Amino acid sequence: MPTSKKELKDAMGEWLGLLAPWDVFSTYTFSRLVNTGGAMFWGRRHLSWLEKVAQQPIYAFLGVERGEAGGLLHLHALLGNVGHLKPFCGVRLPSREWARGCCMVHAWPCGHARVLPYDPELGARYYVSNYVAKGLAEWDLIGFPAAPQFSFSVS
Ligand SMILES: [Zn+2]
Repeated sequence: MPTSKKELKDAMGEWLGLLAPWDVFSTYTFSRLVNTGGAMFWGRRHLSWLEKVAQQPIYAFLGVERGEAGGLLHLHALLGNVGHLKPFCGVRLPSREWARGCCMVHAWPCGHARVLPYDPELGARYYVSNYVAKGLAEWDLIGFPAAPQFSFSVS
């Protein structure tokens, strides 16, 4: 019996929700054409940069999704041990200005980013089913086995 995309997303979301406590859900776009390998490369590179800023081991789920039109790729990530970093500084930068240190949104160097605080009440299933439109072309777990650190919540 064929499994529907929704069932797959629900199952993946459920699994991700149980995997580890998450702090943020992010989406990263690319302003230039990249392939799946290139997207994962930039994603991993960004995570190691975030880890330096976080000053503690971080862990993540990182997946590549192909966009609807033209097949442009973007990344989705669930991140842990980044609860003390600022997701978004609230400043709207002119387009093509990025890679700044003010917040996680503006730190992404390849295009636009959206970083949402993870709400455990909603669970990972909520983020996966609402933001992952077509399914993930490739994905990986980074920094597992995860060791959640004590982190301060700053708002
Ligand atoms: Zn910022």
